[in-house]
Amino acid sequence: MSQRHLECSICKTIRPDSEARNIPTFRADTTSFVDSYYCGDHAPAALAAVHGQVVALDLDADERDDMTPLLLLLALLRARGQMSEDLRDDEFHGEGIERVRQQVLALLRRLERGAVLPVVEPSALCSDCFRALPASQIRVLPWYNDGVDDYVTTFRCGECFQKAIAETRAHLEAGGDREVARLSEFFGRHAVTILEYRRGDPAATVRPILLHVLGMLAQGAMTLPIGETVPVSEVLAPTPAPLAPPPAAPEPAPVPAPRASWWSRLFGRKPD
Ligand SMILES: [Zn+2]
Ligand SMILES: [Zn+2]
Repeated sequence: MSQRHLECSICKTIRPDSEARNIPTFRADTTSFVDSYYCGDHAPAALAAVHGQVVALDLDADERDDMTPLLLLLALLRARGQMSEDLRDDEFHGEGIERVRQQVLALLRRLERGAVLPVVEPSALCSDCFRALPASQIRVLPWYNDGVDDYVTTFRCGECFQKAIAETRAHLEAGGDREVARLSEFFGRHAVTILEYRRGDPAATVRPILLHVLGMLAQGAMTLPIGETVPVSEVLAPTPAPLAPPPAAPEPAPVPAPRASWWSRLFGRKPD
């Protein structure tokens, strides 16, 4: 197993995790702070940014809720091992919710001084360079596998992704109707229905749509979830031997003769 690597959210370079940092980063779409990874060059600015955002929170505002992001950041720091209980009394001050803000700022100062937030999400391996990255940083794409003569799910890191998607694109462009069908089926397996394919439009109509979808993947406008995968080893498994004929049905058990009634057992004859 190779050492884990992290892709910097800013410059996109991939570094061993010993040379990168996990810095909580605000996401406007979820109005919460999440784990984000930065190279050594960009981590200080990311840390300064979150610090500035916490300072700027308007905790008395009536028209918007700045308290929830603060509490979510405190919870995230706690979940990564940075506990406010571990702070010394001289590291923060204030009362009420302002006290919470000061605790968060004190914990962020600890990160500035070198405290490290672990990367807790599972890793996945780039199938080209074999570096392990957090699963959220791995791109999922279709890639033509000669062995199985079909498009299979493959994983790429940010540096290997564009080359792989260009290969998939070239394979589709050079291929015939069959490639169009196979790639449409691939997307169908990933819950991306190519309607024109499903309703039977000709390949000439479907191919540009597939190229457009590949373009969206290349730009990051669309992503395929990492969970929906079938390992290549499984796809490559030799065709299973024909199933053995089902075992012959057992001889039906002889139907027991109806039991003699209690009357005949007692008296040796049927009642009249
Ligand atoms: Zn960077
Ligand atoms: Zn790679």
